[in-house]
Amino acid sequence: MSLREQLCEYGRRAVDLGLVIGTSGNLSVRDGDRVAVTPSGAALDRLTPEMCPIVDMAGRLVAGDLRPSSETPMHLAIYETTDARAIVHTHAVFGTVVATTMAELPPVHYNALLLGGMDGVVKVAEYATYGTPELAANVRAALEGRRAALMANHGGVTVGATLEEAFEATRLLEWLCEVYVRGLGVGRPAILTKEQLAAVVERTLNPPDFPRL
Ligand SMILES: [Zn+2]
Repeated sequence: MSLREQLCEYGRRAVDLGLVIGTSGNLSVRDGDRVAVTPSGAALDRLTPEMCPIVDMAGRLVAGDLRPSSETPMHLAIYETTDARAIVHTHAVFGTVVATTMAELPPVHYNALLLGGMDGVVKVAEYATYGTPELAANVRAALEGRRAALMANHGGVTVGATLEEAFEATRLLEWLCEVYVRGLGVGRPAILTKEQLAAVVERTLNPPDFPRL
């Protein structure tokens, strides 16, 4: 699948799963010094490959007639300093709830380790106006050593080696936020300790032998 075809495919999936409503959210995927990104103001479930702009690492339009997403500077800033090859940004409901009420998402489930932080925490990047270099810098800081970050009063962003990986990270981030937010409605969610998280890492690195006959 071409870079642009991938954007169409995962744009549709993001809308189907309710991670994105209308034109909010944007995706990009990188190959070398070319980045295909979703266009500004277009419904992500109605994209065609030709609609998706391709830009170089300086943000100059290489192909396409539509304006690149307003968050393209954030995508490029992340690519500049990480080995990410794909980025997904959404305003998914539970992620946005956490991003408007908390300074971070604490580790309430061990699957949070899949988002890269050894402490299981997802940080909330400080608020800045969408599309600005300030927001890009804040998100980059919150992402350091991690595959996911929340953006204060805005949404969430995830990165991956492929668009599928970044997309699955967004689904996981939204699930973790939903568990935590719903948990707060029922009681006080227990937060995993450093030791409990370290034990998960240890078990993942050294799985027990599978008994054979
Ligand atoms: Zn946004």
